[in-house]
Amino acid sequence: MSQQGLVIRSTGSWYDVRDEEGHIWQARLKGKFKIKGLKTSNPLAVGDRVTMDIENENENTAIITHIEDRENYIARASVHKTSQAHLLAANLDQAVLIVTLDFPRTSLGFIDRFLVSAESFRIPVVIVFNKQDIFDEEGRQQHQPIMDMYAELGYGTLRTSALTGEGMDELRACLKGKVSLVSGHSGVGKSTLVNTIAPDLDLRTSEVSTFANKGVHTTTFAEMFELEPGTFIIDTPGIKELGLIDMEPAEISHYFPEMRELLNECRYHNCLHLNEPACAVRDAVEEGTIAMSRYHSYLGMLQGDDNRR
Ligand code: GDP
Ligand code: ZN
Repeated sequence: MSQQGLVIRSTGSWYDVRDEEGHIWQARLKGKFKIKGLKTSNPLAVGDRVTMDIENENENTAIITHIEDRENYIARASVHKTSQAHLLAANLDQAVLIVTLDFPRTSLGFIDRFLVSAESFRIPVVIVFNKQDIFDEEGRQQHQPIMDMYAELGYGTLRTSALTGEGMDELRACLKGKVSLVSGHSGVGKSTLVNTIAPDLDLRTSEVSTFANKGVHTTTFAEMFELEPGTFIIDTPGIKELGLIDMEPAEISHYFPEMRELLNECRYHNCLHLNEPACAVRDAVEEGTIAMSRYHSYLGMLQGDDNRR
């Protein structure tokens, strides 16, 4: 008997696959699979839609026979020193980046780097500015130009406080009916926000699968949680940023929407927007139509800075 299913958990060789009735099967892959897109070290990840044959109804086991083409995916450079990337999750509707401008401070460089990764994976982003309650009026106002800047670039923005409940209805509405990657620095309030929205779900119970291969490396698998029917979040425990996979220097500005729209106006088609003559991006920075913070983030990425903080 064939069934359609959604991969909600992966340990590398076994997958939890949820069928259309919500029943969860322990499934394995059989055979070789060809999937369009990036070559990855793992064939399947959470969010993948599959067809499976029930193997043993009593033991709850199934065999995956087909993987649907992905609408998109997130991956990161493999922990192994190979050119293959590690697939983290597939078929995401959006990424929700939780940030705090203080306690702990999320830098604009970190936000921009995340946005560039998401652009490269074609995933829309909503930036959630959490812990609004700790800011006085002046601190709250300091959020506004930053939020406006990102909103103008096409990103969603939201103010929340898990403490006072500010923005929680908006956050709920933003997640509803979608598959969302939830990311952010440790300490910004990811688990608190998710636990507020779905109190029955304890995010901290999410397992970080580790194979202690002589202590050399740790592999993390993303996990998918169903907050309510049709609403899923993907947690990537231990992964702070997605990173920029296989990106050529001249490609980076393609993932800055405000630079992308100027690319045909630079004299050189492979312009890096550094010191080249007749560079439309540098002109826009000087005129103030491209924010200096964004240009700085761009330069950092070009130099391979990590912008982890
Ligand atoms: P995570 O590492 O992103 O999952 O962050 P946690 O959810 O563990 O939260 C880190 C700390 O921030 C905890 O002490 C939370 O109680 C606190 N916290 C989370 N959200 C808020 C908020 O909106 N306001 C305030 N004041 N504290 C918060
Ligand atoms: Zn240029």
